[in-house]
Amino acid sequence: MEAQNASDDQRSDHWARLDAFLRTDPRDAGCDEAMEMLDVYAELLAAGNDPSERFSGVHAHFLACGPCAQDLEGLLSALTGPDPSQPDPP
Ligand SMILES: [Zn+2]
Repeated sequence: MEAQNASDDQRSDHWARLDAFLRTDPRDAGCDEAMEMLDVYAELLAAGNDPSERFSGVHAHFLACGPCAQDLEGLLSALTGPDPSQPDPP
């Protein structure tokens, strides 16, 4: 009986850890750091650079966090203007 309980505990712990892993990228820098780097990150993107390696923690966060990704998108479109691949309607 004791062994049965132990293995049940282990299994639920396993799932909890898997769940946490799926939700949180270990490199994820978090909202605070992402917001701090938002300007720099957007400027690098707007200049045609790829900041995802230099700021891998922030990059991971923008992939994981919808609100921060939206902030980045908004700032980026403010920096770069309208997307040239989507011309304004006549
Ligand atoms: Zn965030």
